[in-house]
Amino acid sequence: MSFKGFTTNIVHRDRLETIEHGSLHKPIHANVAYGYEDARELAAVFQGKQFGYSYGRQVNPTVTALENKISAMENGVATACFATGMAAIGSALFSLLRAGDHMISSSFLFGNTNSLFSSFANSAIDIDFVDATSVDAVIQAVTEKTKLVFVETIANPRTQIADLQAIGDFCAEKGLVYIVDNTMTSPYLFQPAKVGASLIVNSLTKYIGGHGNVLGGAITETGLYDWTKFENIYDPYKSGDPHKWGITQIKKKGLRDFGASLGPEAAHHIAIGAETLALRQTQQCANALAMTTFLDQHQSVKAVYYPGLKSHPQHQRAADLFRYPGGLFSFELADGVDLWELMNRFQVIVKSSNLGDNRTLSIPVAHTIYFEMGPERRASMGIDESLIRISVGIEDSEDLLADLQQAFIGCGG
Ligand SMILES: *Cc1c(COP(=O)(O)O)cnc(C)c1O
Repeated sequence: MSFKGFTTNIVHRDRLETIEHGSLHKPIHANVAYGYEDARELAAVFQGKQFGYSYGRQVNPTVTALENKISAMENGVATACFATGMAAIGSALFSLLRAGDHMISSSFLFGNTNSLFSSFANSAIDIDFVDATSVDAVIQAVTEKTKLVFVETIANPRTQIADLQAIGDFCAEKGLVYIVDNTMTSPYLFQPAKVGASLIVNSLTKYIGGHGNVLGGAITETGLYDWTKFENIYDPYKSGDPHKWGITQIKKKGLRDFGASLGPEAAHHIAIGAETLALRQTQQCANALAMTTFLDQHQSVKAVYYPGLKSHPQHQRAADLFRYPGGLFSFELADGVDLWELMNRFQVIVKSSNLGDNRTLSIPVAHTIYFEMGPERRASMGIDESLIRISVGIEDSEDLLADLQQAFIGCGG
């Protein structure tokens, strides 16, 4: 049995395998070790000759059910879950790269990913950060040591969109591993397999979990990359389908050895959250369009960054690739409008970090997430001191618009 619809697939995925007692959710297996009647079977599981459960750091039935669900959502062949999105990215790259390798990354990155890659750069991995909104910058950065290219779909906070299709075509031509962080779009708005991604990152903390109550991350193998072309696969993992060697090595060298494993309770929360992903994101994107249309016409606003607006430099790309242009935007204030005065008047909109929550969240980017970088680096990244990022929730549109309106009126705008 398989289902056509995105949500039908999520809601009924667990039942495709037999579940204990006919339970409709995969139960929470709060368990670490597994006993076997036949010692040969235990050995076969350890040797990877047979699927089975060995030890909780590497594998757990509740987590496996979530991994299968994410593979189905992304149209991939296998998924490994991690304790957080950062653990997923760090463990994957650590398992695939070796000293002397070169990688190319978009310079428009989630702040902690940027910080992580800077640490890699100090640990013998050579990294070039390029403007990935055009494939040309990627082409120019390639060396014979280049192993992989890493991009995000919609960058946060300025919402630049990578040249996803052209970079995918280029990676395919050069035999490079292509990693796409799909967190901001989620598989509901965009499936990176369509542009040739080899591996997909999802922070499950954001839209997939969706309720701001649980952390998690995932790496999905799309099955599109032939790992026989990749020099860094260790011999024990070169068995079976070569389109899955990458995820096997990530599970062994990344998940097993680093141990940033997702717990079964967290996996359960994420699986429940994922059931309403499409419903939530549809409302979030509709709210985002209403709010940015309002702000775009407001005299107290200098600029609005949202791929759904025609003025956005990658508006057409977003329309071609994504179901909707996302639930996150940012805006800059006109001179003379006080950032703190405005934000402190928000009543519905919460002042908080995080994104992808059911609640609309706002954050003064330069003074929080990008504070550590200092004013010069911020200016070079196009982060204005008055930039406010909004992660749009599922509230009723009229309440969000009214909240913005009263806040501007309250500070004279
Ligand atoms: C939040 C985020 C991450 C990291 O995820 P955590 O679950 O918070 O560790 C990675 N990439 C993007 C694009 C994110 O927004």
